[in-house]
Amino acid sequence: MSASGPDVIDYQKLLDEIAREVEPLYGQGKVASYIPALARVPARKFGMALTTLDGKTYRTGDATENFSVQSITKVFTLSIAMAYMTGELWRRVGREPSGNPFNSLVQLEYEHGVPRNPFINAGALVIADVIAAHSPDPKGLIRDFVRRTSANPSIDYDLEVARSEAEAGFRNAAMANFMKSHGNIESPVETVLDIYFTQCSLAMNCVDLSRAFLHLANQGRSPITGDEVATPRKTRRINALMLTCGLYDAAGRFAFHVGLPAKSGVGGGIVAVAPRHYSVCVWSPELDTTGNSVLGSHALEMLTNRTGVSIF
Ligand code: GLU
Repeated sequence: MSASGPDVIDYQKLLDEIAREVEPLYGQGKVASYIPALARVPARKFGMALTTLDGKTYRTGDATENFSVQSITKVFTLSIAMAYMTGELWRRVGREPSGNPFNSLVQLEYEHGVPRNPFINAGALVIADVIAAHSPDPKGLIRDFVRRTSANPSIDYDLEVARSEAEAGFRNAAMANFMKSHGNIESPVETVLDIYFTQCSLAMNCVDLSRAFLHLANQGRSPITGDEVATPRKTRRINALMLTCGLYDAAGRFAFHVGLPAKSGVGGGIVAVAPRHYSVCVWSPELDTTGNSVLGSHALEMLTNRTGVSIF
């Protein structure tokens, strides 16, 4: 934090500086290619948007270009499922970092079909199943939740990305079938996979995402819409899960370098929450070996170093 505190930080200047300084990092990572539609995304993109608690959004670079949100949607679906179920939910999915890749099958077998946390793929499939059991229109519900929290009614799924993932989603299908065999999936496997692939295909930009996460920086109340999106207690819990499980197998490293609850996706987005200050989204499609955006991770580290704002 600067001597005069974070409120007087010139965020616009800071974001523009960061955008310039991350440029030399292009080429150090690889765009995700296991979902054919994602492989076609241009590599050299960088956007960043930060929304403060007064609802003001600062942006730089490709911050208004839509990208595939992918695993970041797991935070939205967890929020929805937590509104339906409290204690019971945690019998079906754990709250521990996995220490394994996000799509690992081996851990699921050892742990009898109970995924380690809601942010690995198996956990998100269980969450999709919970939503399916409580809503006649799960995909509509998820989309409406995102439209409402980001105050952008035009956000939608990219059905070509969803189709592309469905055609190549053998591992997710294996996990869903395996959990079904343990009784941890209630709806038909095809229904759950369809919800999951569709939710992952949401197309949003950095501005939308920084707004959609702002309530998590404000004890659950969105300063933009005034809605109580989650209770203060649920908000603390979602942030805790993001901190410990939100960055695949690099959550520890990210907490060490950045020190903010965050969630990343293989589309190259990362959203981070600075409680009582702001929420911020970065996007750049080249990923490191843990599946996190190279430029995005560095940009958030620069942001924390220069603002001094972290939860530690
Ligand atoms: N839809 C992707 C998958 O299941 C999401 C991965 C991610 O963003 O972590 O592989």
